[in-house]
Amino acid sequence: MFRKKRPPQRPLDFHEAPDVKDRIHDLLRIMDLPHIKKEHIFVVRSDHSRARIYARIWGLSRIFQEAAGLPALYAIEVVSKYYDLLSEEKKYQVLLHELMHIPTTFSGALLPHTKTFHTRYHTQWQIFMETFF
Ligand SMILES: [Zn+2]
Repeated sequence: MFRKKRPPQRPLDFHEAPDVKDRIHDLLRIMDLPHIKKEHIFVVRSDHSRARIYARIWGLSRIFQEAAGLPALYAIEVVSKYYDLLSEEKKYQVLLHELMHIPTTFSGALLPHTKTFHTRYHTQWQIFMETFF
């Protein structure tokens, strides 16, 4: 047996994602998520990621907020290779899922995938579906 050598990793590339930002604004306009400060949500599209996911959310942890004098910030990263192939509906679904990781304290922390998380997400998604599509 031999191990197949992984091809050399291309550096991760980040791009602006105005289309993703627009979708997030659609979601925030329709959904009742008043704790989410849309000006503190950043969006990037990544290329050459090895992550096998559509998207993920990053929160600026408290230590950086304190040390750098920054407010709580979040970045939503969509992985181009997977996200861009999704249907319109699924894109909204993925982005709503990421937004649901933001706690009502908007502290920079993230909520884990608990039963409550999934229940809240499904409730919100039903509301969005009925209103938007
Ligand atoms: Zn998640």
